[in-house]
Amino acid sequence: TPEVADSGNVSSQQVLDELFAPGHDKGSCLSRYEFVVYRKPSSHKPSPYLLSKLRKYESLHKLCGPFTESYNKTLEQLKSGRNVSTTDCNYVVYTPLSGLGNRMLTIASAFLYALLTNRVLLVEFGSEIAGLFCEPFQQTTLLLPMDFPLRSQFDNFSQVYPRTYGNMLKSGIINTSMMSPPPPFLYIYLAYDIDRYDGLFYCDQNQDQLRKVPWFYRAYLSKADERIGIQVRVFDTKVTPFQTVVDQILSCTIKEKLLPDVLEKRSSAASLSKNQSLKAVLVTSLYSEYYEHIKGVYWTKPTVSGEVIGVYQPSHEEHELYGNNMHSMKAWTEIYLLSMSNALITSSWSTFGYVAQSLGGLKPWILYSPLNGTAPDPPCVRAMSMEPCFHFPPSHGCKAEVNVGHVKHCEDVEWGLKLV
Ligand code: GDP
Repeated sequence: TPEVADSGNVSSQQVLDELFAPGHDKGSCLSRYEFVVYRKPSSHKPSPYLLSKLRKYESLHKLCGPFTESYNKTLEQLKSGRNVSTTDCNYVVYTPLSGLGNRMLTIASAFLYALLTNRVLLVEFGSEIAGLFCEPFQQTTLLLPMDFPLRSQFDNFSQVYPRTYGNMLKSGIINTSMMSPPPPFLYIYLAYDIDRYDGLFYCDQNQDQLRKVPWFYRAYLSKADERIGIQVRVFDTKVTPFQTVVDQILSCTIKEKLLPDVLEKRSSAASLSKNQSLKAVLVTSLYSEYYEHIKGVYWTKPTVSGEVIGVYQPSHEEHELYGNNMHSMKAWTEIYLLSMSNALITSSWSTFGYVAQSLGGLKPWILYSPLNGTAPDPPCVRAMSMEPCFHFPPSHGCKAEVNVGHVKHCEDVEWGLKLV
């Protein structure tokens, strides 16, 4: 077992021991126990309320998880297609959409939803992320069994599937005031293009109604002295000029004093400099040009401060691939490495970056996308919090006010919402 640094009164190891139920086989998931060695201690401690919810959830998952008596019984009801009375075991099944960042974020959201509504979360992973994550609970699984009866219908799940919660509300098959007996399952469509009916899922009144449904589906969802992570996500290379993005990144790092400027001519002032510290810059991108250019700047010229800058990029995949395990592994490694930075620069609109910042507890500097080929001024802005941005909150809110208290509009998506 690695030695773990203390943070204030509580060591990272103690936090870990609290988060996971005792008796875990450490060898089954080394990264879970060893990550504390590589990360600086977090100032974010789990609350007693969260810990008690986690313990309750673990018991529930053990009682209702795959292949238990309760699970088998609920499956029978599901197969029969009959409307049912509420059982002790209610479930939320997660089906994936989009890239790895989106998946990690939406699995975390689905888990929070399960925790708050006393449901058991079962996750459909897909082979591309097989082996990338550990099972969180002992003697049970989070994975949706292969013989799950509705699996054959997954391909039909989309916004137009007649049995989405939104479509059933729209067509009057169900309404908020009356739903008894509840249907055996509902499909909740929550992707980026939700309409006002799908969005009613987020309202308290509708959640009261959903509590009665036993199943439904939730779609988606070195050695350096200092490490700087730069995540360059260019969604459309045709309309985003390479040079504009590179200039934007360098003006951001210099303006925010994350990286030193370089001397155009080699001078004795630089070589005599007192500051010989080493900064490692990790560039992640689907493309190699950004890394090549930034590396070139620090490779060929001395820095004004005398600091030595090393620039690295683990991979450049060129294209997003779906269904490829090695591609996902590289993406996960890069998200993980970015999250271990001391300072992080991310690209606006990217869930890949959101996951890295949240994992690392970091408030990143966000690079806005260039508009009409011109870099924005200022080149980057500091995020208000480490939280991700919810890009498509329901447009017809639940009579709740936004931009108040702990919920604000995002820095990078003006209609998006985030916790601060
Ligand atoms: P988003 O599209 O940026 O919001 O984030 P996602 O992570 O959901 O989807 C992007 C996908 O593209 C990832 O899962 C990766 O497969 C790939 N990708 C994007 N940027 C990078 C990168 O910097 N490195 C690697 N290895 N893959 C990337």
